[in-house]
Amino acid sequence: MEKRPTLRFLAGREDAGSTPDPAAPKLFGEFSKKLIIPLMGHSYFIECQKCEYKSEEITMGVGFLFGNIDDILHALRGNDKKTVQLLKHRKQIHTHYSRGYSLYQCRNCKSLENKCHLTLYNQQGDLIFQTESYCRSCQKAREYMPEDSDNETIPDLCCPKCHQQDLKVLLGILWD
Ligand SMILES: [Zn+2]
Ligand SMILES: [Zn+2]
Repeated sequence: MEKRPTLRFLAGREDAGSTPDPAAPKLFGEFSKKLIIPLMGHSYFIECQKCEYKSEEITMGVGFLFGNIDDILHALRGNDKKTVQLLKHRKQIHTHYSRGYSLYQCRNCKSLENKCHLTLYNQQGDLIFQTESYCRSCQKAREYMPEDSDNETIPDLCCPKCHQQDLKVLLGILWD
């Protein structure tokens, strides 16, 4: 079991003395469930209707909760983590963008990877780092597979085993 990142609210919920982040949602309780799901992050299981494939738990979302690089570092693994730690240590990170956990699929062999997305820019606005999902067996980058949260599906996703597009997405837990 992998360690989950520590999730916290940015809008001064926990540390009431701080200045609220203007980008953080103020009327949180008024958001509908449909809006909250992509914001909060959640987990999926994918099941194939044609073969016996069943995925591990897939985590999606949580983009806006990653308020700073330290929070994102908890979610990174391997070389991504090492590179970002180094850039942070050298104070080269000026701005960052993360859409949180994302799902990637290789167009060729249909292998899947679920990892945290992150893009970093320096002071000049140059891209200095971008997470990539790399398929070693095909020697190419996997494609980002965005979810369709209205319909609770992931369009164009193929079964990694039988390669057919007949998958059922089962919503797992919501994190808060
Ligand atoms: Zn591949
Ligand atoms: Zn299948």
